[in-house]
Amino acid sequence: MPSHTVVPGRSGNAIRHVMIVGGGTAGWMAAAALARLTGNGVTHVTVVESEAIGTVGVGEATIPPIASFNAMLGIDETDFMRSTHSSFKLGIEFVDWGRQGDRYMHPFGPFGVDMEGVKFHHYWRMAHAGGAPEPLGDYSLCIAAARRNRMALPSNDPQTVLSSLKHAYHFDAGLYAAYLRHHAERNGIVGIEGRIVDVALRGDDGFVEAIRLDDGRRIEADLFVDCSGFRGLIIEQALKAGYEDWSHWLPCDRALAVPSASVGPLTPYTRATADRAGWRWRIPLQHRTGNGYVYSSRHISDDGARDALLAGLDGEPLAEPRALRFSTGRRKQQWVKNCVSLGLSSGFLEPLESTSIHLIQSGISKLLALFPDRSFDPLMIAEYNRLSQTQFEQIRDFIILHYKATQRDDTLFWNQVRTMDIPETLSRKIELFRSSGRVFRYDDELFSEASWTAVMLGQGVMPGTWDPLVDAINPHALARKLAGLRNIIACTAEAMPTHEAFIARYCAAG
Ligand code: FAD
Repeated sequence: MPSHTVVPGRSGNAIRHVMIVGGGTAGWMAAAALARLTGNGVTHVTVVESEAIGTVGVGEATIPPIASFNAMLGIDETDFMRSTHSSFKLGIEFVDWGRQGDRYMHPFGPFGVDMEGVKFHHYWRMAHAGGAPEPLGDYSLCIAAARRNRMALPSNDPQTVLSSLKHAYHFDAGLYAAYLRHHAERNGIVGIEGRIVDVALRGDDGFVEAIRLDDGRRIEADLFVDCSGFRGLIIEQALKAGYEDWSHWLPCDRALAVPSASVGPLTPYTRATADRAGWRWRIPLQHRTGNGYVYSSRHISDDGARDALLAGLDGEPLAEPRALRFSTGRRKQQWVKNCVSLGLSSGFLEPLESTSIHLIQSGISKLLALFPDRSFDPLMIAEYNRLSQTQFEQIRDFIILHYKATQRDDTLFWNQVRTMDIPETLSRKIELFRSSGRVFRYDDELFSEASWTAVMLGQGVMPGTWDPLVDAINPHALARKLAGLRNIIACTAEAMPTHEAFIARYCAAG
């Protein structure tokens, strides 16, 4: 046992040293957020990373809550976007998912306006059944702007349609980690370079005591935050948390990533194009485009995936494609004893809805909300694990929906995912929506009713009917209201500057 000097603190039992293991996106996000702990004069935080091992560094597309993470750190949006070569993201365009030739958008903002406590899409459904041909997307400002390559900042006035604009970012993940590192170090976080070769556990209770580096240094800490990537250096290799494998639902297990030269207009959305044995991403940044093919190695060879990826690029490739392997799933216990895992070490759902960086952010918020002292109350640990399990499973279901709700039968891959058994939680959601358009959010679920609606309708799950409360509205009055909404959304989008012009004015890099 190390000798513990009792220091003044809430109970004299405060955490004195937090060691973050890993300096990828997860490690530096955690460091930047935990820097605030150092203000108590007791706790210090270090980050250990190994340049020789490197980082995954391909997380480039995000979802809107990242803006609140940056704001919590006091980061200015313009400065951050300039430094990370960011572009704006208003949603994701899905190509060829429901059927080949289909195209739909999952926007970040809502559809239309809810009326009389009823979700807007029920009114749309009734009008649609009456012959109105306009797609639900015509009632989303995010979609209207994205389709026109336009961008503006949202308004704070809830009375205006501009308040329905919600955005996230596409950024260079390496630059984001460097940006956060700078921020964290300015706030007292210490970075240590070295490869961890051993993890020492305490003999009496199996808690992590120290790590040993390849140069022989031994460093002790009270709390370890495992951000070591897929290997799960502490949480799995030392503490054997166990992994719940979800590859029977999410069979993609490899990816190839390649940057390409920017061509054409700078689109304010990510594109996800379904392919023979998975899907390809396209993420436009200010200085280049990020591309990748996420695929199932049982359904396509690496060479086949490479050819499909390169054939689908808009511009010249700027490097050789980089290969990544993974198993979709989650660590069974994401917090074990005195180790909390964040990022890829805690699990990985594939990048289809850009949720990994969000899961890091959400793990950090939970850790701060349940920040322990050296007694490591098992109730706090259990609560953390319960909350993370719920969140991972909810996001898992949303991602599986994209595969399950397809009508494609052109390859073995699509036949497999179309006909697979799915979690009961998801089949209940699909059936409820199919029968009556109802969708409910449980336990602070990440994806909103609008998100579920966008993907279900986009992939051909059409509600059989609508909320009966909608029947009270006069169909002519509804038609007039809908036409007015479409008009104001289209006019507002038309009046916005192009995404490119907006970035040039607001946050142009270098
Ligand atoms: P890593 O980047 O792997 O970092 C691990 C760190 O641990 C490194 O610093 C490494 O040096 C260190 N380390 C490991 N072992 C040792 C050791 N023995 N000694 C010392 N240091 C060690 N997320 C999104 O939100 N949006 C996306 O669009 C997106 N796209 C993705 C596409 C693909 C194909 C993949 C695989 C992931 C994607 N992600 C995406 C996820 C995203 O990349 C990760 O969530 C994010 O990069 C965090 O990674 P990490 O920091 O957990 O791990």
